[in-house]
Amino acid sequence: MTCLKPENAGPATTGPNGLDFNPFDIMEPRTPTMPPKEARNGGRVKAADVRPEGLYLPNNNIQTPNMVSPEYVQLSTAAAITLGIMPGKMHRCGCTRCLNILLTYPEGCRANCAYCGLARHREADRDYADRNFIRVDWPSVPMAKIAQIVGEDPDASPFHRMCISMITHPRSDEDTVSVLKTWTDHVDPDAIPISILSNPTTMERQDVQTLRDMGSDIFTVALDAATPEIFDRTRGKGVQSPHSWKKYWEILMDARDIFGPQKFGAHIIVGMGETEFEILELVQQLVDLGGHSHMFCFYPEQGSLMDHLPATPRDQWRRVQLARYMIDYYGIRVEQMKFDDQGRVIDFGLAQAELDSIIDAGTAFRTSGCPGKFAEDISACDRPYGDSPPSDIASYPFQPADVDIRRIRSQLDMLKPGQTYEDGDDLEDY
Ligand code: SF4
Repeated sequence: MTCLKPENAGPATTGPNGLDFNPFDIMEPRTPTMPPKEARNGGRVKAADVRPEGLYLPNNNIQTPNMVSPEYVQLSTAAAITLGIMPGKMHRCGCTRCLNILLTYPEGCRANCAYCGLARHREADRDYADRNFIRVDWPSVPMAKIAQIVGEDPDASPFHRMCISMITHPRSDEDTVSVLKTWTDHVDPDAIPISILSNPTTMERQDVQTLRDMGSDIFTVALDAATPEIFDRTRGKGVQSPHSWKKYWEILMDARDIFGPQKFGAHIIVGMGETEFEILELVQQLVDLGGHSHMFCFYPEQGSLMDHLPATPRDQWRRVQLARYMIDYYGIRVEQMKFDDQGRVIDFGLAQAELDSIIDAGTAFRTSGCPGKFAEDISACDRPYGDSPPSDIASYPFQPADVDIRRIRSQLDMLKPGQTYEDGDDLEDY
């Protein structure tokens, strides 16, 4: 059947050739090339050996300093602004509720995931601490300074959660433990819960247990790819990267045993070539295991091996976002939904009035992730504009207003009678 979008279906972003989804065949990453010898393993940074002093802002036109975890970590631009160590404002967001931390080394992440700005192949042209990741820069800061600032009054902190992203590095297991210790020396985990975004490739079951014993609340595994084939193509052998689907599932199941129901989950990126049916089957599988899925909309990160490919068409993204929310929080099962012969959702398995109330509540379209202090289905981790520009928001880092809901409805081709949405309506008021 044809998958051209009807002409009257609103301004939703469409993919290649007018497709309203990203098919497997076109989502092929570039083949990575080998960086010059002097740039490998952080060679430039180590040779210059510029000592770090306090905060380092990426792309500062100075040599990237020789910063190393566990003393140093990187944190998201939104977290740095919220923490008060960087000036700036985010469109329509006062602050972020999650303190996202990334381990850092001159050698950087040793994996080569095709969609990721931190991938190893970028050694050729950009030092690790200067690389963009989920569309933003990540300033580097001494971990003790972060813990001291938040530790002054954790109960009054804007942060509802702290999350350590482990990246892939031979030292990341032991350094995650050290970073966690620095944090818990200053901040009670009951005041600000801790999440771990793990690196299964270097981990064993005991590592998962240790992180739980140290007070971590939620453990997540970034599967990212929704099928084994896409996993292998984007983060395994297809791009000379060390990860395997089997190992990721092994650690995910360890996390299920050790952290327990509702305290483990998987990250999944929508639009890397899977069908909507495939990704929602995975969402159902995670729910049946007692976990959650955290969804990201594929965005062609500049400098990555997939930066030539289309962002996920908004039609596909909204359908998956809505269906995932219903499976995760409304007890709707994937078997109740109907799909067409391209695997697209054509029936969400709910009466229209109930579906309307879920859409109009807007929560389904907010950034998904580990919960904060507002509600179980409202993520602390709001990642402002991590998967889209503010002009075409994929994951809303705030409660969508009426105009946003109209935009979402137009993308879903579900505007109510009399409702309209014109491109840019949601930007006019803000
Ligand atoms: S392991 Fe994580 S940080 Fe490293 S390249 Fe892959 S996605 Fe990026």
